[in-house]
Amino acid sequence: METNSRETNHRMKTKAEPSHPPVWLLMPDSQPKRARSAERLTRPRQAAPPLDEEALRDRLRAIRTDTANHLDELLGQLTSTLQEQYGVTSLEATTAQEAADEIARLASPSRRVLVNRSATVAELRPYLKAHGLEIVETYDEQFVHPDQGVERYWQLEPPSAETAWEAFRPQAITPSPRQSTDIGVLGVNVAAAKDGTVFFVQHLFNISDILERASKIVLVIGVERVVRDRDAAAFVARSQARYGALSVALGVPRRGGDSKGEVPVGRSLTPASPVRDAAHVPMHAILLDNGRRAWLSDPRYQDLFLCIGCRNCLLECPTQPYYGGETGWTPRDYLAAFLRGDSSSLRECITCGRCGARCPLDIDLPAMISEAKAEAGATRWQDQFYCNIGTLFQASSLTAPLSNWLFNWPLARLPMEWVSEMDRERKLPAFHRNTFLNQYRRRSSAPASGRAVVYYPGCYANFTDPELSWAVVGILERNGFRVLVPEHQCCGVACFPYGAKELAQRYARRRLRVFGPLAQEGYTILVSCPSCGTALERDFPYLLPESDDARLVAEQTRDVSDFLWALHQRGELDTDFDPLKLRVGYHTPCHLRVRDLGPENLRLLELIPGMEPIDIDRGCCGMAGSFGMRRAHREESREIGRYLFEELRSPGYDLGITNCAGCEMQMRAGSGRDVVHPLKLLWRAYSNSGSK
Ligand code: SF4
Ligand code: SF4
Repeated sequence: METNSRETNHRMKTKAEPSHPPVWLLMPDSQPKRARSAERLTRPRQAAPPLDEEALRDRLRAIRTDTANHLDELLGQLTSTLQEQYGVTSLEATTAQEAADEIARLASPSRRVLVNRSATVAELRPYLKAHGLEIVETYDEQFVHPDQGVERYWQLEPPSAETAWEAFRPQAITPSPRQSTDIGVLGVNVAAAKDGTVFFVQHLFNISDILERASKIVLVIGVERVVRDRDAAAFVARSQARYGALSVALGVPRRGGDSKGEVPVGRSLTPASPVRDAAHVPMHAILLDNGRRAWLSDPRYQDLFLCIGCRNCLLECPTQPYYGGETGWTPRDYLAAFLRGDSSSLRECITCGRCGARCPLDIDLPAMISEAKAEAGATRWQDQFYCNIGTLFQASSLTAPLSNWLFNWPLARLPMEWVSEMDRERKLPAFHRNTFLNQYRRRSSAPASGRAVVYYPGCYANFTDPELSWAVVGILERNGFRVLVPEHQCCGVACFPYGAKELAQRYARRRLRVFGPLAQEGYTILVSCPSCGTALERDFPYLLPESDDARLVAEQTRDVSDFLWALHQRGELDTDFDPLKLRVGYHTPCHLRVRDLGPENLRLLELIPGMEPIDIDRGCCGMAGSFGMRRAHREESREIGRYLFEELRSPGYDLGITNCAGCEMQMRAGSGRDVVHPLKLLWRAYSNSGSK
């Protein structure tokens, strides 16, 4: 009853004082450009003024932090602005169900709801459907890429930051009421509390279409999308457009014929003519919480509240093409769904960590995903096998060559697959009884002087690839360093992604007992394994935030290639390399990508005369730690790595190159080519590489 009178009041008010909150669209600045939106975004043609990326991110973070710190104040201000200035009533919906109930009530008797492609509206979809409403979204049918269907990020030519920033122009628009019975439900990109302005980012026409065809508009505003004023809102909306510029072009279907001609505009929409005796379309607002406030009160997830919904984290997610879903999907959306109780939503995450690499707000999604898994007790007993892979490596090394024979015997692999889920078709590396550390301790001579550095080979290089460890030692000694190799222990990097947080913390503490004192003495700790590097640099300080040693070790850990490249930049690297006539394809492992590393390997290889290193970035190779080792993931793992294998198989490559032993295994199996660590090539190219 009360709700009905609210509705009546609103109608009376809109008739007496026709008004609506200012609606601004951010879109490519002309219709032809919009028709070729993907092309415009990905093929910059004109120079734009330089952008101060760091200042932009700082301002973005400041605006978002302001919302997080003053949420109630801003929501209160927006609600009263909408009511007092425009007669628009707002419902604060605690759950998606509550919001959908309100929309169904407002839509009645119509059964058609026109929606934009919005993560906020996507939360309501199942509940709207349960009300028997037909949901119409026209985004995909309007989007055209002129040349090809774009499936993966490397197929897009990235626009410069400036072009992406300049590509979208804000325009104020005035929706007018129509005779249509359709109701428009629009997820708002950003709303300004002070004057009630709402911003939408539009790549083509879908939002304009809805504003022009719906008889009534419901603005769905995620509570985190409210900022202080119009300036801040415009800035955030523009940032969404800028950082999301590439991800919107992913999954765009290929169109036949000349796609630069006719663009299908709102084919699913019913034409509607304007209502002549009313000036403005009735609007309603729903402020949607649906679990968002809970993020703020939990230190593990509170950064999620800063998210601007740009979808940039989607770009490199290897599972995105398979699990994108009907409404588009981002790692952030999956995590949010998980935190709202959808325990199945994170199963598709293969914990590669790539979603953390591109976030303009540095939201650590991979850590949050691991936290969520830990909270849900998602670690299964089979996962323990992979969490404790270091122990398995040690046991396999102690029992070699028997272990190697067993791992190659199909009859033994079958029960192993039952117990551990390890794919029996996976060829495992050979374990060395005489580990690198044993060999190192027994070496007859070592440099007595030189600047000392610590080298941590990790389990793979210690137990299965002493040749790599020797290459690292050889290169470092060749450049005047004295290499210290401490007692070997696993870093436990596999534990946290499986949600085994306490076990990961135990591994970290154990490692820090060795590395902590070394870091305190000022040693640089060098790693050749990208995953061990991620554990030391990123996981340890996250897992043990109170530990000074964890912070110090993280600061002093360097990937060997990065260390050597820095040496070269200071003019201190010995570049007296023998020629190696090889054309090699380099793959950046995820655990380097997330630490902004990788290209230095190409630069180092370019120093070798005759060497032609090619960057063959095709995203994750499909191994993703131990994901690809499991029988259940065999097909998916191959499918994720398919593009990389195809490239490496193509004529002209002599070798594949990568830093990670898991990627190496996967690339070798998928492409049939030999694959080696770049430091082995570097060592081979030193003229005296035969000596130890
Ligand atoms: S960790 Fe990898 S698979 Fe998981 S959501 Fe992030 S990018 Fe996707
Ligand atoms: S998590 Fe970061 S990258 Fe992903 S949508 Fe949010 S702001 Fe964008």
